[in-house]
Amino acid sequence: MRRYSKQREAVLKALRKSTTHPSAEEIYFEVKKEIPNISLGTVYRNLSLLKNEDEIMGFFPFSDSEHFDKSSEPHQHFCCEKCGKIFDVNVNTDLTDKSVEEILDCKIKSSKILFYGLCSECK
Ligand SMILES: [Zn+2]
Ligand SMILES: [Zn+2]
Repeated sequence: MRRYSKQREAVLKALRKSTTHPSAEEIYFEVKKEIPNISLGTVYRNLSLLKNEDEIMGFFPFSDSEHFDKSSEPHQHFCCEKCGKIFDVNVNTDLTDKSVEEILDCKIKSSKILFYGLCSECK
């Protein structure tokens, strides 16, 4: 039986509650409501733990800070360059994977595609 720490559960809960893709700092402020004495370092540590367990995903949409995804299922993202919101999109990347495999004669195991532009509110 796996042991889940209280902090790990709180970090996961905060991420699951979020509809966007928060950064570690945003998760930290959310978790602090439940565990006031938690440190940012502990939040980081639990996030990388959850990533290693394939429970969540992390990515750098704007190259500055890592953002986290409550799902590790493969899907793509649209990032608004104006308001910074990150939306989930599900497009079929099988064709892209196949053509890359053909061009490079390689085997694709996973792909991460980010779309950039202006969201419906900003455009
Ligand atoms: Zn926007
Ligand atoms: Zn996502």
